[in-house]
Amino acid sequence: MESLVTEIKNAALSMGYEKCGIIKIADMADFEEKLNERMEHLPETKPFYERFTGFAHLQDTYPWAKSIVVCVGQYGKYHVPEHLQGLIGKAYLFDNRIDERAKEHQESLRFEAAMQKIGLKTETSRKFGITALRWAAVKAGLGIARRNNFFYTESGSWVHLEAWLIDKELELIEVPAVKECPEHCNLCVKSCPTASLSKPYTMNPLSCISFLTTFGGRNLPHERCSGQMGGWIYGCDVCQDVCPMNKSCWKATEEFPALAELSEHISLEKVLKMDYDFLAQVMPAKFFYITKDDAWKWKVNAINAMVNDYKAEYAEPIYDACNDSNEKVREMAEWAINKLNLRKKG
Ligand code: SF4
Ligand code: SF4
Repeated sequence: MESLVTEIKNAALSMGYEKCGIIKIADMADFEEKLNERMEHLPETKPFYERFTGFAHLQDTYPWAKSIVVCVGQYGKYHVPEHLQGLIGKAYLFDNRIDERAKEHQESLRFEAAMQKIGLKTETSRKFGITALRWAAVKAGLGIARRNNFFYTESGSWVHLEAWLIDKELELIEVPAVKECPEHCNLCVKSCPTASLSKPYTMNPLSCISFLTTFGGRNLPHERCSGQMGGWIYGCDVCQDVCPMNKSCWKATEEFPALAELSEHISLEKVLKMDYDFLAQVMPAKFFYITKDDAWKWKVNAINAMVNDYKAEYAEPIYDACNDSNEKVREMAEWAINKLNLRKKG
């Protein structure tokens, strides 16, 4: 008869996950030390990091939990619409967390049901993670964290992580086969457009483009980094794209459900002209870090990207945005006109 550990791992692999490991809840305790270290190094990040301290004390909320099952799934197998390269981070294009059409989403539900069927109590947070996923995955030996802070397996960093709490004390620790970063490599640090990744393993989330284009960056005209954010409007892949350890890891053999259709609606100009109903209803169903109440943020991000790589055809949509129904968009458009020295339309 298979051991419970083998049963869980086999179930995960049969659902399509690349890897599965199990750590004890106590293995998360030193995550708090890491958080404290980061907050001491960059005190302004305290409000950002403080909310994650609960990840080191999971039994306060889930007293029954004994272990954490961690799974890795690859997304570097999907075709990236050419015109979205450099606009939207790839992890978000292939985000399956709330997308019920994604086969990985269905597999995740089936894996959870399989664990419950073998008698385990489970809990997860599919949307935001029940614990610090990269930390847990490293502890489970499923891969390593590189100097750009991303988690890598043999498939590179193009992987999603998921975790479940379970009520049995089990352990399944793998030995990662990936090589460490080359000794003198600092391509990721050198390439970070905003210097958010200021040194290896040290990133200021508040100046990371991924943060500024999603949860943060609500005042882009006065944002110190707006000029360094390039063409990104949701996420940023620079420190992963430049990494030699990601070389040849993207296979692009499959189409992600409904992405091709959605991508036809997305370009800087189309986003700036986009109907607010579409921005509030369709976009958050996939890109949920910008909520429907903040739909204006898409337009502000698009204007910023236009300013950073200005083309003559952007003038018209920027002028039009001066009459947008949202004050933030109007303010951003006025800012862009001044910044670009465009003459105000009469
Ligand atoms: S995601 Fe972009 S902005 Fe953030 S650390 Fe990496 S390169 Fe820098
Ligand atoms: S770019 Fe170089 S230093 Fe940075 S994560 Fe990749 S291999 Fe490591």
